[in-house]
Amino acid sequence: MTTTINHFINGKSVPGTSGRTAEAFNPATGEVDAIVPLASKSEVETAIVAAAAAFPAWSTTPAAKRAQVLFKFRELLIANLDEVAELISRQHGKTLPDARGEATRGLEVVEFACGIPHALKGEMSEQVAGKVDTYSTRQALGVVAGITPFNFPAMVPMWMFPMALAVGNTFILKPSERSPAATVRLVELMHEAGAPEGVLNLVNGDKEAVDALLGDERVKAISFVGSTAVGKYIYETGCANGKRVQALCGAKNHAIVMPDADMGMTVNALMGAAYGSAGERCMAISVAVVVGKETGDELIKQMAPKVQSLKVAPYTDEEAEMGPVVTFEAKERIEGYIQSGIDEGATAVVDGRGLTLQGYENGYFTGGTLFDNVTEDMKIYKEEIFGPVLSVVRTDTYEEALRLVNEHEYGNGTAIFTRDGDTARDFNNRVQAGMVGINVPIPVPVAYHSFGGWKNSLFGDHHIHGMEGVRFYTKLKTTTARWPSGVKDGAEFHFKSGADH
Ligand code: NAD
Repeated sequence: MTTTINHFINGKSVPGTSGRTAEAFNPATGEVDAIVPLASKSEVETAIVAAAAAFPAWSTTPAAKRAQVLFKFRELLIANLDEVAELISRQHGKTLPDARGEATRGLEVVEFACGIPHALKGEMSEQVAGKVDTYSTRQALGVVAGITPFNFPAMVPMWMFPMALAVGNTFILKPSERSPAATVRLVELMHEAGAPEGVLNLVNGDKEAVDALLGDERVKAISFVGSTAVGKYIYETGCANGKRVQALCGAKNHAIVMPDADMGMTVNALMGAAYGSAGERCMAISVAVVVGKETGDELIKQMAPKVQSLKVAPYTDEEAEMGPVVTFEAKERIEGYIQSGIDEGATAVVDGRGLTLQGYENGYFTGGTLFDNVTEDMKIYKEEIFGPVLSVVRTDTYEEALRLVNEHEYGNGTAIFTRDGDTARDFNNRVQAGMVGINVPIPVPVAYHSFGGWKNSLFGDHHIHGMEGVRFYTKLKTTTARWPSGVKDGAEFHFKSGADH
């Protein structure tokens, strides 16, 4: 059944009025799941007005009281986790256990944000000069916005709004038009939890809505997660308009496999990291760099049958290891990359194209693909495919493998598989990436650390959630104070240091 998605503005679910809409699909069946309104500039304007009006009261609400809304939201999210997971899977296609895992990782950020009174504590130095004290506090920015991708419709919004609201901002969320159902549900639950009107707003939309946020001076900061081209545009436009921007973008995550790696463990790790969620994760491993001929031969020998027998099925099938990809266009793009890999001379050990599931003939299914003998000059090596395709690159030495990781334009996550502590330590020290795994294929940091890449995987100065989230969503104020008993007679004309007193 096709539903119609609404915006959520000033505490109410409101239908779109622009007349422009998009379709969100159920990728397993190819049927339209929901009609999504695409907000006009004036609809975004109503959300900005609501958020700006809510800011004075929300930002001066005691942090412990703001946290109480998040505590309640946490309870409601746990109670409704299965429903949220279903909404994720229905429009994204990922398996239900994966969707539950996604929602749970978002929940952990909520739990971190519940401790905001502690995280917001400032610093104080007594007696920096004669009877003079200095203290620093962090204050909210105002109205801030979040623009999120299709692939984590619950977790990525929860990287943003719980942190932004906890420190006292009001928020406008612009979810992906391809999978907004779960995100809308989170916003409803926040209101059930007691978020006041205007504190958290959601507008559905595309470039028009994003441009309205980018162009409005009441929006003080933007968090973006999505592709690199869009992220770069949002970073450059937002910064040019005087906003604080963090844009977390695309990836091509490499795993180095050393000759001493535990091969059984490595193969299982790569299977999950390359093909879980059909490779539609910014932390998916899409390149395995194997060091030494024997390592490469053994890896391919063990992986090929596993890739061949991946259980690809709709999320309603409990046995599913991997679902469909998100849209017909995504399937076409991914299968186009596979053809280009073959044309450029890579060895397609397993070619996942041409997969049709009985009863789901119109679904966007493509099987797992495994390439061997991929080289640096190939398009499948250089570009983010964002699908279930793993490229194996062979090298003779660790130094050559490290060079490949470091010279790639992206630097989101990376991993090394080895039993040798010296190699692992050297890798961690010299690798040019924001998140490193040592025998851990998807090193997504827990909520009380921070998530973010390097190079073209992140534009901006702050990673997301954890203490980086507190820093991004607040500005620092430093106060120097003295009282009359500390004031000497007469004017002072010369700059002095504390030690001069
Ligand atoms: P996308 O860039 O197409 O869309 C992201 C958001 O930007 C959506 O809300 C979309 O509506 C909006 N948007 C799209 N085109 C726009 C335009 N021209 N102008 C303004 N806004 C626009 O990304 P996607 O396909 O939804 O998500 C997949 C991408 O996200 C992949 O590249 C993936 O690596 C990346 N991603 C990165 C991270 C990370 O943390 N680094 C996490 C998840 C996904």
